[in-house]
Amino acid sequence: MVQNPLRIVMLGPPGAGKGTQAVLLAKSRAIPHISTGEILREAIANDSPLGREVKAVLDAGNLVSDKLMIDLIRQRLSKGDSDAGFVLDGFPRTLAQAQALSSLLGEMGKPLTNIVELNVSDSVLLERIRLRGAKGSGRSDDNVEVAARRLKVYWEQTAPVSAYYEERKELSKVDGLGTIEEVQNRISAGLGGVVKSLKK
Ligand code: ADP
Repeated sequence: MVQNPLRIVMLGPPGAGKGTQAVLLAKSRAIPHISTGEILREAIANDSPLGREVKAVLDAGNLVSDKLMIDLIRQRLSKGDSDAGFVLDGFPRTLAQAQALSSLLGEMGKPLTNIVELNVSDSVLLERIRLRGAKGSGRSDDNVEVAARRLKVYWEQTAPVSAYYEERKELSKVDGLGTIEEVQNRISAGLGGVVKSLKK
C-alpha cells in the first residue's frame, strides 16, 4: 500500500523532545528528518563560512536571521529526497518563517499535511535541559542560562507560529509528558486519523 506523503512540522519548546520524536517518526515512515539545529551545528563543527557566521548566535540562545534560515530550508527542500515527504524539526521558528514556508511549499505544490506541537510545561523543560547539560550533550547551548534564554525566545518568537497554525485549524497538540514510546504512540495515533481523513 502506498501511503500519502507526510509533510510534517514538529513544533514545541526547547527540551520538549521534538528532536527525538522527529527522528523516530522520520525513520518509521522512511522520510528525511530535516533539523535546522542539526544543519547549523554541523556547519559550526565543519568550521564552514555559515558555521562561523552563526556560532555566536546559537551560543547566546538567539535565533539566526530569517533570511538565512529561509534560504537554507529552500535549498534543503529542493533535494529530491523530500518528494516522499519530510519531518521538519526546528523550522519554522518565527511567523516570517512560517509564512515563507507556506508560500514555498505552495509553489512546489507540496503543502504541509500535519503540524504537531508537543506540549510540556516550562519547569519540566528546564529540568530536562539541565539534565541533558549535566550528562554532557556536547552542545555549547545546553546550559541553564542559555536554556532560559532559549525558552524566552521561544515564547516571544515561536509561540506565534503555533497560533498561526491554530488559527488555520491545522495544529495537533500532543502531550509531551511520559516515556518516549508513549509520546511516539500519541503522535502516530494523531497522524493515523489525519491520514485517513485525507484519503477520503
Ligand atoms: P532545540 O534544542 O531548541 O530544539 P535546535 O537544535 O532546533 O534547538 O536549534 C538550536 C539553535 O539553532 C537555536 O537555538 C537557534 O539559535 C538556531 N536555529 C535552529 N533553527 C532555527 C530557525 N528556524 N531560525 C532561527 N534559528 C534557528
